[in-house]
Amino acid sequence: MSDKFEVVVIGSGPAGYVAAIRCAQLGMKTACVEQWVDDKQKTLLGGTCLNVGCIPSKALLDSSHKFVEAKDHFDVHGISTGKVNIDVATMLARKDKIVGQLTGGIAGLFKANGVTSVQGHGKVLAGKKVEVTAADGSVSTIDAEHVIIAAGSQPIDIPPAPIDNDVIVDSTGALAFDAVPKRLGVIGAGVIGLELGSVWSRLGAEVVVLEALDDFLPAMDAQIAKETKKVLTKQGLDIRMGCRVTGSEVSGAKKKTVTVSYMSGDEEKTEKFDKLIVAVGRKPSSKNLLAPGCGVNLDERGYIFVDDYCATEAPGVYAVGDVVRGPMLAHKGSEEGVMVAERITGKKTAINYDCIPNVIYTHPEVASVGQTEQQLKAAGEDYKIGVFPFVASGRALAANDSDGMVKLIADSKTDRILGCHIIGPSAADLVQQMVIAMEFGSSSEDIALTVFGHPTLSEAVHEAALAVNGHAIHIPNKKARKK
Ligand code: FAD
Ligand code: AMP
Repeated sequence: MSDKFEVVVIGSGPAGYVAAIRCAQLGMKTACVEQWVDDKQKTLLGGTCLNVGCIPSKALLDSSHKFVEAKDHFDVHGISTGKVNIDVATMLARKDKIVGQLTGGIAGLFKANGVTSVQGHGKVLAGKKVEVTAADGSVSTIDAEHVIIAAGSQPIDIPPAPIDNDVIVDSTGALAFDAVPKRLGVIGAGVIGLELGSVWSRLGAEVVVLEALDDFLPAMDAQIAKETKKVLTKQGLDIRMGCRVTGSEVSGAKKKTVTVSYMSGDEEKTEKFDKLIVAVGRKPSSKNLLAPGCGVNLDERGYIFVDDYCATEAPGVYAVGDVVRGPMLAHKGSEEGVMVAERITGKKTAINYDCIPNVIYTHPEVASVGQTEQQLKAAGEDYKIGVFPFVASGRALAANDSDGMVKLIADSKTDRILGCHIIGPSAADLVQQMVIAMEFGSSSEDIALTVFGHPTLSEAVHEAALAVNGHAIHIPNKKARKK
C-alpha cells in the first residue's frame, strides 16, 4: 500500500475504532491497521473488548445469572421449573454470535464512515510512517500526517502458573470452557477474576479465589468493598486473601488437574483444581510496535508515555486506551480516541479523568465514580456522606433484588458531589447518573431537589443524596456523618 492517509490508527479496539470513526467523521482520510485475524484470515475488528473482553464476559454473566435466577429464585414468585440445566455449548454459541454481530458491526461502521481497514501488524517508524506486516508476511509502508497508537493490552502471565490453554488459562480461555469445571481456581481477586469466577460458580463450579493482597478491592471505597466481599462469599465464592500463588503442577493424562501451591502468611498450602484461571492483571501491548528513532517513548511501567491529551513525545503521534496510563477501561480509551481526533482538527477537547466510572459486573453490580472515603480521609478533606440501602427501595424489593447500597459523598462546605459508590441492582446504570451530575458540578442538594420517577432503582440515588444532609425520607436519618 503506497497511499497517504491523514490519520493511521494502529489497533481496532474501543480506543482505536472510535478514534478512526471520529477522524473520518471530521473529514480526515483514515486507515485503521489491525493484526488480529480469524481462522479464515479475515480481519477481526473490535479488539479485546468485543472479542475476548467486555462483551463476551457480559454475555456469559447474563446467561449464568439467568440460570441462577431460574434455579434458585423463581420459586419465591410462585414459579416452579423442575430441574434447571445448563447447556454450555449453547451458552458459548450465543456469546460467539453476539461477538460476531458486534465485530461485524464495526466493519459496517468503517465502511459507512469511509475508514479503510488494513490487515497487518503495525509498527511506528520515524517520520510518521507505519510499517504493516500482513498475515501472509507481505510488508508495506503507509505514510500518515498523524498516527494514533491504540495497541491495547494483554493478560499478564506469571511464572508460577504458566498458561497452557488447557488446564491453566487466562481470561480468554476462561470464556470458552467447554464444560463447567468441578473445582475452579482463580488467581487474582480483581475485576476480571471476580467476574469470570462468578460465571462458573453460578453454573455449579466450586470456586476458590486466591489473592495475594490482604485488602479486598483496595482501590474501591472500603465500605462498598467489604459489602461486595460479603455478598460474593454468600453466593459461594471462596475468596482467600493474603494468599500468594508460588507454583503449580499439572498432572494426570486423560483427566488433568492442577495442584496450586500458595503462601498464606508463613504457611505453604496447596489446592487441587480441574481448571485454573490466571487473572492477575493486564500489561500494555508494545511488543515490536515502535521502531528505534520513531521518537515515541515508554514510561517506567512499559506504557506509551503521553501527556494529558494523549500526545506522545513524537510530534503528530498519539496513543490512547490501554496502551497508555490510566484505568484499563474500554470507555476511557474510546473517549481518548475522540479527544485525539478532535484535537488533531484544532478543537480543544479534553477528558475529565476524575469522572470515569468503573464497574464490576457481578450480581449485584458494583460501580463507582470519583473519590472514595479513604482517599478523602487521607487527603484531609472535609466531607459528608449519605447512604441508602436497597432493602428500603420498593423497586428493589419488588424485583427480589435488594442487596447493597448507594453511598454518596459530598464536600462538607460546598456540598459538591465528590464520589458515588454503589453495590446493587443495575449499579452500572445508576452510577452513570452521578457521573453526569459530577460533570455538571452538581451539589448533593441539586440531586435531592430533582424529581425521580417512582418506583425506580434511581430513587435509591435520590435518597442517598437526601441522606447527605440528613433529609432522607424512607430511612431514619442518622445524624449526618461528617468528618
Ligand atoms: P484493545 O481492546 O486491547 O485493542 C487493541 C487492538 O490492537 C487489538 O485488536 C490488537 O490485536 C491490536 N493491535 C495491537 N498491537 C497491534 C499492532 N502492532 N498492529 C496492529 N494491531 C495491533 N472494560 C470495560 O470498560 N468494561 C468491562 O466490562 C470490561 N470487561 C472486561 C472483561 C475482560 C475479560 C477483559 C479481558 C477486559 C475487560 N475490559 C473491560 C477491559 C477492556 O476490554 C479494555 O480496557 C479495552 O479493550 C481496551 O481498549 P483498547 O482499544 O485500548 O485495546
Ligand atoms: P487486577 O489488576 O485488578 O486485574 O487484579 C489482579 C490481582 O491479582 C491483584 O489484586 C493482585 O494482587 C493479584 N495477584 C497478582 N499476582 C498474584 C499471585 N501470584 N497470587 C495471588 N494473587 C496475585
